[in-house]
Amino acid sequence: MKARLMMVGAGLSGAVLARQCAQAGYDVTVVDARPHVAGNCHTARDADTGVMVHTYGPHIFHTDDDGVWDYVQRFATFMPYKNQVKTTVAGKVYSLPVNLHTINQFFGTAMRPDEARDFVAAQTSDIPDPQTFEEQALAFVGPDLYAAFFKGYTEKQWGTSPSNLPASILKRLPLRFNYDDNYFFHRHQGMPRDGYTALVAQILDHPGITVKLETVFDPAEADQWDHVFWSGPLDGFFDYKLGRLGYRTLDFELFRADGDWQGCAVMNHPDADVAHTRISEHKHFAPWENHDKSVLYREFPRACGPDDIPYYPIRLAEEKSLLADYVALAETASNVTFVGRLGTYRYLDMDVTIREALDLADTFLAARTAGTPAPRFSKAPL
Ligand SMILES: Cc1cc2nc3c(=O)[nH]c(=O)nc-3n(C[C@H](O)[C@H](O)[C@H](O)COP(=O)(O)OP(=O)(O)OC[C@H]3O[C@@H](n4cnc5c(N)ncnc54)[C@H](O)[C@@H]3O)c2cc1C
Repeated sequence: MKARLMMVGAGLSGAVLARQCAQAGYDVTVVDARPHVAGNCHTARDADTGVMVHTYGPHIFHTDDDGVWDYVQRFATFMPYKNQVKTTVAGKVYSLPVNLHTINQFFGTAMRPDEARDFVAAQTSDIPDPQTFEEQALAFVGPDLYAAFFKGYTEKQWGTSPSNLPASILKRLPLRFNYDDNYFFHRHQGMPRDGYTALVAQILDHPGITVKLETVFDPAEADQWDHVFWSGPLDGFFDYKLGRLGYRTLDFELFRADGDWQGCAVMNHPDADVAHTRISEHKHFAPWENHDKSVLYREFPRACGPDDIPYYPIRLAEEKSLLADYVALAETASNVTFVGRLGTYRYLDMDVTIREALDLADTFLAARTAGTPAPRFSKAPL
């Protein structure tokens, strides 16, 4: 008899794992509580404007992983896309990430790269081993650029002072001393022409896969399956019995407009006296399409309650301690593997999600052949 695999969640983690296992001859049932596949990457056309909307927030595909890039090309046509983000600070518009243009506009100068590097270095504080986001920012960009471009946005995003956040967050936001305003460094960048939901539907389109939407999986039923892959929240699998892992959620305020409302896909609003962090204008995520009307999202981060969608894991000391307890509990679950952004309580870009699902499928299939236990996690959460 063929082994029966249960994949909880039809996001990228679930879809890629299901596909790899189905191709290896397994029968896979994929369930999702939502009425659509693709998880948080879901896209759908807005009925009023015809614009492809990124329902759970803007998603841009970017990667240096050739294997992942080749993989997604098999299931969708990708259109060229360059992510260029702007930011409005105190009534003026600047280019992000902070680059030579931003620096020259902000300080009213016409510095060349070396001059700008020396200028910024003269403003920074000598903090040998920065521990917090704020210390890192002061050591890295100095007080003026920090106050304008990083402080307010970070406070709104995380709901706490940057002096309470780890330095590691800012390590990912480099300054550029040239005019390159491509937000990402990766060699491959693009958008699926027909949206992410079409991409994920294609990945799931295999005779060995059965998809059931609007179906909530109850962990108490795990023993009815040969193996369960769980891409839901790690604490949710255990009915939150040790407490809830902390997340930030997002409220999106949708509005429509005629023509072109802001002239770009994403405009950040870091000022502390503006409640939202950014506005996304979704038709600019598909520059190859033409739409007379426009649909936009104002984005408001806040603490995630029990009925909200968990977006960003907080992962401060308190959460990591609770996470360690859940990891220990997970080790006792016999036929379950926890996967993806919620199952491992990490922020994962789409390319990393796909890479981890591909690698986990290889490990799982090899373990089945060898008769050894399946891994408990796609990647260690701690
Ligand atoms: C605001 C935002 C913007 C982002 N932008 C980008 C970007 O620009 N580029 C990029 O590469 N990445 C981006 N990401 C990351 C991207 O969303 C993730 O990489 C991806 O969604 C991870 O897929 P997943 O399958 O692990 O999780 P998910 O997409 O969350 O899928 C999990 C699924 O499991 C289902 N589920 C949970 N519990 C149950 C249950 N008990 N029964 C049934 N179903 C259940 C849920 O309904 C959900 O659909 C962004 C993330 C956020 C939050």
